Amino acid sequence: MAELLFRDDAYLKSCEATVTAVHGDAVELDRTVFYPLGGGQAGDTGKIGNWRVIDTRKGPLPDQVLHVLEPGSNPTAGAKVDAQLDWERRHRLMRMHTALHLLGAVVKAPVTGGRINEDKAHLDFDIEMERLVKDAIEAQVNEFVQSATATRATWITDAELDARPELVRTMSVAPPRGEGRVRLLEIPGIDLQACGGTHVANTGEIGLLKVIKIRSEGKRNKRVTLELA
Ligand SMILES: [Zn+2]
Repeated sequence: MAELLFRDDAYLKSCEATVTAVHGDAVELDRTVFYPLGGGQAGDTGKIGNWRVIDTRKGPLPDQVLHVLEPGSNPTAGAKVDAQLDWERRHRLMRMHTALHLLGAVVKAPVTGGRINEDKAHLDFDIEMERLVKDAIEAQVNEFVQSATATRATWITDAELDARPELVRTMSVAPPRGEGRVRLLEIPGIDLQACGGTHVANTGEIGLLKVIKIRSEGKRNKRVTLELA
C-alpha cells in the first residue's frame, strides 16, 4: 500500500521514494506520483531512477500501484529512487480528463463509458443521436473553458455517497469504493461528481476544445469525442 501523492496534488511531477516490492518487470514504491490506469484515464509513464516506466496499473490490493518498467530493467527492492513523471503527457491527460467533466455537464444523459488519452477523449451516452448537435456541444464546452472556473476536490464518506446517487454519473468510471471515503471533483456551477482521477486546477487551463466525432457505438452508446483545438 503506497502513499498516493497525486490524490492531494495532481501537479506533483516527481517524488523521492523507496522500492518496496518487485513483481517481474513491475515495482511498487512506498509513495508515488504515478496515476494508475483507472476511471477511463490512461496510466502514467516516466522514469524511476534509471528505469523507464511504460505504464502504471492498479494492483489487486487497495492503494497498490504497479509501475510497469521496460522489459529487462532488473529492478531491486529497497532501492532509493527519484520517481519522475512524463509531465507533458500527464498534463494533457489532466486537461482531457477535466474536459470530459465539462462534456458530461453539457450532455444531460446517462454516461455508459469513457476513455481519456493524451490526444483525445470520449464519453458514451445513452441518448438519441438527434439530441447530439456537434456545434452546440462544442460551443458550450468552450464556454465553460473560457469561464476559467477553479476546480476543487473534496472527500465524502461511502455512506454519504450512497445517499446521493446522482454524484455517480456512470459505474464504468466510478471511483473505488470500500475504503470508507470517496473523492468528489467539483467545478462550481458546472459539475459535481465522484471521481478519483487527476484534474487541472482551472477550466481555463484546458484550452479550447473541438468535437471531432459523434458516432453511434450501439443502442445505448452514442460516442462524443473531443480533442484539444
Ligand atoms: Zn474526474
